[in-house]
Amino acid sequence: MAYQENSAMAKSASFGYLSISLVAAAVALALALCGPRCLAQEMAQDQGPAPRLASDPHADTHIAEAIRQVSGDRIRQTIETLVSFHNRSTISSQDEASLKAGKGIGAAREWIKAEFERYSKECGGCLEVKTDTFTEQPAERIPKPTEITNVYAVLRGTDAQQANRIVLVTGHYDSRNSDTLNGTDPAPGANDDGSGTAVSLECARVLSKAVLNKVKFPATIIFLTVAGEEQGLNGSKHFAQMAKQQGWKLQAVLNNDIVGGDRSPQQDASVVRVFSEGLPAAANEAEIKRIRTLGGESDSTSRELARYIADVGRSYDAGVKPLLIFRLDRFLRGGDHYAFNQQGFAAVRFTEFREDFNHQHQTPRTENGIEYGDLSKFADFGYVAHVARLNAATLASLASAPPAPANVKMQTKDLDNDTTLTWEPSSGAAAYEVVWRSTKAPDWEYVQTVSSGTRATLKVSKDNVIFGVRAVDAAGHRSLPVVPEPER
Ligand SMILES: [Zn+2]
Repeated sequence: MAYQENSAMAKSASFGYLSISLVAAAVALALALCGPRCLAQEMAQDQGPAPRLASDPHADTHIAEAIRQVSGDRIRQTIETLVSFHNRSTISSQDEASLKAGKGIGAAREWIKAEFERYSKECGGCLEVKTDTFTEQPAERIPKPTEITNVYAVLRGTDAQQANRIVLVTGHYDSRNSDTLNGTDPAPGANDDGSGTAVSLECARVLSKAVLNKVKFPATIIFLTVAGEEQGLNGSKHFAQMAKQQGWKLQAVLNNDIVGGDRSPQQDASVVRVFSEGLPAAANEAEIKRIRTLGGESDSTSRELARYIADVGRSYDAGVKPLLIFRLDRFLRGGDHYAFNQQGFAAVRFTEFREDFNHQHQTPRTENGIEYGDLSKFADFGYVAHVARLNAATLASLASAPPAPANVKMQTKDLDNDTTLTWEPSSGAAAYEVVWRSTKAPDWEYVQTVSSGTRATLKVSKDNVIFGVRAVDAAGHRSLPVVPEPER
């Protein structure tokens, strides 16, 4: 199935004619009512330049150069090394003998840690390599108290004011075979989720290398690999709770799980699915009520993140396009992004277009001529590299951007066909952009630059569209947009 962006763009173009004719009508009306001088004032105050299409690409050459460094060959080496640990089940052995033999999840953990440390050494110590270890008590898929370790590397932001903002990429390094309680027989996990672990590692390698080449990321980037996913999202739950308890300003989580591009004939290697929740898992009753009133069912922070990824996909040549799926996850499956959603963080899941269920969660074997097992030979390393490029470009764009504007409000105290938006200044912003779309459109359609001040009035009715406001720095990096709260 082909990527369906063209029809969405066609729709947005037709909406454009409608909007332009509305603006023309409004101008004619204003001229009749208040004369040319009044109109000129209003235009200067309110209109600014004409709105542009939100789908226009915009790229940063440093980021484009950084993502070109992503290597399919490095990704192949990472996935093949992960497979060589034989069984990376969270309940596989972690004792000294298995570490020495290079078997089990403990050996995988030590190798990942050593990889992060190697990248850090190559960039003059730019990464802080850390572990988050805890003991999980027995549960349905955990027969005895089990030590679980998340391994991560922190690329600290260069701007003291902004380094507390964090963007994060993750994959799970544990694996499973047909039996979730089997920690000994082969569980190669090349695609699920050697591929996602490889994306996290490769993003760490190329973005730390960019830092060595004097590229600056004002905000902090974390490259995470978690365990316990197959036993019940244990690692990501622990990590997300830690982030919540410690008050991290975690603004985006990119979870890559099954991005190996399984080589089945029906695969579409030109796209990667990006799943995002609609109603936030963390929303309380009052928030659900507010969302219902606003018609905000498709504007969770996770969905704004998904739209941001779509924008990155149009702006950079990653080799793969994001295909947004407006749903938390696939049927009968879950993933680590949900653990972050439950703590109120914006988090999305990347997964290949078409999964081959014979090649995941299966003990390797051949039955009736069908080969089962999550083996390296079914993965497309070039595809994983494309997904890594899209992730790295997203992380770099978010970490380069100024903070999103705070306290974004939409005036609703009078019945009015115009819309006035206000917000607080964002440090490092050179300008702001108001984006909007028809209530039935999936993605932002129009953007209007507000080059000075923190207020804008648009000749577009708030009753008919959904607005967002984002901050833009002098180099053109955009923050995530913030949907305004009505203010009376
Ligand atoms: Zn998985």
